[in-house]
Amino acid sequence: KKRIGIMTSGGDAPGMNGAVRAVVRTTIAMGCESYGIYEGYEGLVQGGDMIKQMFWEDVRGWLSEGGTLIGTARCMSFMQRPGRLQAAKNMITRGIDALIICGGDGSLTGADKFRDEWPSLVAELVERKELTAEQVEPFKHLNIVGLVGSIDNDMSSTDATIGCYSSLQRICQAVDFIDATAFSHQRAFVIEVMGRHCGWLALMAGVSTGADFVFLPEKPPAENWEEDMCMIVKKHRELGKRKTIVIVAEGAHDLELQKISPTKVKDLLSKKLGLDTRITTLGHVQRGGTACAYDRMLSTLQGVEAVKAVLDAKPDTPSPIIAIIENKIVRKPLLEAVKLTNEVADAIAAKDFARAMSLRDAEFAE
Ligand code: ATP
Repeated sequence: KKRIGIMTSGGDAPGMNGAVRAVVRTTIAMGCESYGIYEGYEGLVQGGDMIKQMFWEDVRGWLSEGGTLIGTARCMSFMQRPGRLQAAKNMITRGIDALIICGGDGSLTGADKFRDEWPSLVAELVERKELTAEQVEPFKHLNIVGLVGSIDNDMSSTDATIGCYSSLQRICQAVDFIDATAFSHQRAFVIEVMGRHCGWLALMAGVSTGADFVFLPEKPPAENWEEDMCMIVKKHRELGKRKTIVIVAEGAHDLELQKISPTKVKDLLSKKLGLDTRITTLGHVQRGGTACAYDRMLSTLQGVEAVKAVLDAKPDTPSPIIAIIENKIVRKPLLEAVKLTNEVADAIAAKDFARAMSLRDAEFAE
């Protein structure tokens, strides 16, 4: 029986459990055996109890649960070849030659690298007499399929990552709560949301809550942004608004060039406009809680497709990620998706915002 491993890696995201549940159950329904790799790549490197066979009932009730019940970790040893050598040995001794990984771009890059290196890792294990030629014979190729789990919606080639809509939902809820108190006291709130290289959460939260102003990592505001923002907020107040909400993506104030810190925005609103202004950093609440309906659906449909992709894979087909594009679940080349994602991050780091914006536009145009 074919054995398929499932792992969650990188930052946790609501919906990861739904993905594990779908993968485990589809694997079993297809007549294969399912193995849960605990604590991300750490479990693969350590082996033993960290790799457990999963049965149908093991994932009962997982669909709505937030976080990841099989754990996740940042694993330094997998970044080095000796760690990956140990991981390959653990997989072969457990009879696993296919891995489905739900994680961000870092985790998926690591997975593809592992697949590329696989034949040489196997050869080295035989050379070192850790495994025999007969033992490794059925494990010539490693099969990798990626599921994109990230609250930031920061992966190119897919319209939505698993977790981003749950996080957006949580942000909207939090802003609604803040709205009530802001309205009562006629206050202004500067709200910091997550998103390092990707302003999707901030932008969509702005649209969904009717915020007055939004700061994104990809698009620095115009040079006269201070006057711009104050003018807009003042105009809204004159039109009768009793509250002000300004959303700042965490990535927008990491950048030296932009220098958009929530404190600076607060000072402007209070000193220039005389508004009683508070800062709220939403932090890890944005990751927590149950998965929203969209993430339950997305993780389930993509989990099923991931197992199908494993079973369809030929030794020379490039590793895919499972994407959603215009409401269709599709397979896209993993390396290409990671490359495009890194291009945006690199453009932001190089302060080439025109390029960052044009890459984002191209994604949406697609
Ligand atoms: P997030 O976007 O939430 O940060 P991520 O998947 O990008 O998620 P990373 O911390 O970049 O998170 O990666 C998670 C783990 O994947 C790392 O700790 C490491 O074990 C493995 N990994 C990442 N990049 C590589 C790589 N180039 N080679 C080997 N392993 C890697």
